[in-house]
Amino acid sequence: MAADDKSANPLKRVDLDGHDLPPSPAPSSPRNGRRRYALATELVYTEGKDQYGASSTPIYQSATFKQSSASGGQQEYDYTRSGNPTRTHLERHLAKIMNANRALAVSSGMGALDVISRLLRPGDEVITGDDLYGGTHRLLTYLATNQQIVVHHVDTTDVNAVKERLSEKTTMVLLETPTNPLIKIVDVPSIARLAHEINERALVVVDNTMLSPMLFNPLDVGADIVYESGTKYLSGHHDIMAGVIACNDAAIADKLYFTINSTGCGLSPNDSFLLMRGVKTLAIRMEKQQSNAQAIAEFLESHGFKVRYPGLKSHPQYDLHWATARGAGAVLSFETGDAVLSQRIVEAARLWTISVSFGCVNSLISMPCQMSHASIDAKTRRERQMPEDIIRLCVGIEDVDDLIEDLSRALVQAGAVTVSLDGFQAVEPVQTQ
Ligand SMILES: *Cc1c(COP(=O)(O)O)cnc(C)c1O
Repeated sequence: MAADDKSANPLKRVDLDGHDLPPSPAPSSPRNGRRRYALATELVYTEGKDQYGASSTPIYQSATFKQSSASGGQQEYDYTRSGNPTRTHLERHLAKIMNANRALAVSSGMGALDVISRLLRPGDEVITGDDLYGGTHRLLTYLATNQQIVVHHVDTTDVNAVKERLSEKTTMVLLETPTNPLIKIVDVPSIARLAHEINERALVVVDNTMLSPMLFNPLDVGADIVYESGTKYLSGHHDIMAGVIACNDAAIADKLYFTINSTGCGLSPNDSFLLMRGVKTLAIRMEKQQSNAQAIAEFLESHGFKVRYPGLKSHPQYDLHWATARGAGAVLSFETGDAVLSQRIVEAARLWTISVSFGCVNSLISMPCQMSHASIDAKTRRERQMPEDIIRLCVGIEDVDDLIEDLSRALVQAGAVTVSLDGFQAVEPVQTQ
């Protein structure tokens, strides 16, 4: 049998660049004819074909897999960098819940963006936001400095600002919604349509970490690639780092897979198992986190603080957010008017852990300008109108009354509000702008 005879190894494929793809997980077929259930059901319903019928796909903690012949044989797996049954099981499950034909799991959210950015060539132009996740900003700056990628930062919450920058040279539009910590909303469907009109080969990439597949499916509204940090809502417990990439185009998926296999950033079997376990409770966690966040946003707003949360009618882009997303998420921010005061509030909170990140079952509080966004220099932060006093709350699944009580106490202790005889009351809420 000829070595290049496809029937010799039905799983062996060649990607667009002519690279031999090693035995790897075949593309997922999430819609293989059966009825689709609501997401909460799909999240827990898994299709495994374990040899012993294990109801939870085991951790295949093995770097290599035995081959049946010297020519490689017909096994689906040979080496874990290329493919591993635990990772494949996770990837197929993720493809299903992300409404994608193919999903790929890598070692972190930034690893996911790194893999995607390798689709770019020197001279390519990227249009992206001006209120990006700090790590995204750092990687793009590296690419602009060292790889001759031209990066345009515009206010992506303004469709016209993006439109003005779009040209034949635009190869990628990278979007994040809501932005963080300013919680600005991006009109993904309109931007995707415009980008494809101007250059049909332009890739519209969405970082969906803030909303998760529970609340938003960018691929359904025109995005070509969606990625997420699995470290956040997907896993939900801040005990692993992971990244997920999903797309519908098989050729793009093959290129992404080629990079993952070449660089070795595929998610480890153990972390794949943990991410799979976390994903199953996404719906119940997100529902609770979201309703807690809503109550806390209303509490802060009613006491005179400027609160940024798409669940509040006062959000300037409330309608735009709800036109595509199914929920407001569980990250909000508010301003106190004074960075030192904000610091006192953050440090006075007890239930709210001072920590970067979000998406975890427990509630977190932070000052983005000093923590998650510190890699953006102070001058750029000023240009982007990021208030130095902004406090970000990432709401968990605790009892909402306990969370509000702890926050009230921290606000009083820090001197942000005063207590009157009628009980807790914001006598002099501090306002900005
Ligand atoms: C955390 C985060 C990332 C990076 O993910 P890691 O898993 O930390 O590498 C990217 N984008 C957003 C919006 C994030 O919050």
